[in-house]
Order: sequence, then C-alpha cells, then structure tokens
Amino acid sequence: MEKDPVCGMEIKDTIKAEATVYKSKTYYFCSALCMVQFQQNPEKYVKHDDEGKHEHHHH
Ligand SMILES: [Zn+2]
Repeated sequence: MEKDPVCGMEIKDTIKAEATVYKSKTYYFCSALCMVQFQQNPEKYVKHDDEGKHEHHHH
C-alpha cells in the first residue's frame, strides 16, 4: 500500500490518487493539494532510504 508522503494518509486506490514522479520514483497523494506541497519542496518529504548505507556510529 502506498502512503501519501505529505500527510501520511494511506492510499488504497492508486489509480484514482494523484501521483507525481520524483527522482524516478512515483509518489501518491490523497489530493492535489498534497501533491502541490510535495512538488514545492520534495526534499522535505522524501526519505533517503535508497541513498548510501545505513551506518550507525557507535562510539
Ligand atoms: Zn495527503
């Protein structure tokens, strides 16, 4: 199930949902309003899970 990265709402029907592609990944939104917010500042909402390694520094 997809999740609206702006408001956190679960998107059950991605066919009807608003969608935008950012850095070759598709994001789904509950409404055009959330999509616009995302497009204005995508870095705020994108999680960087795909980039780099999950290194935890213990000292
Ligand atoms: Zn939303």
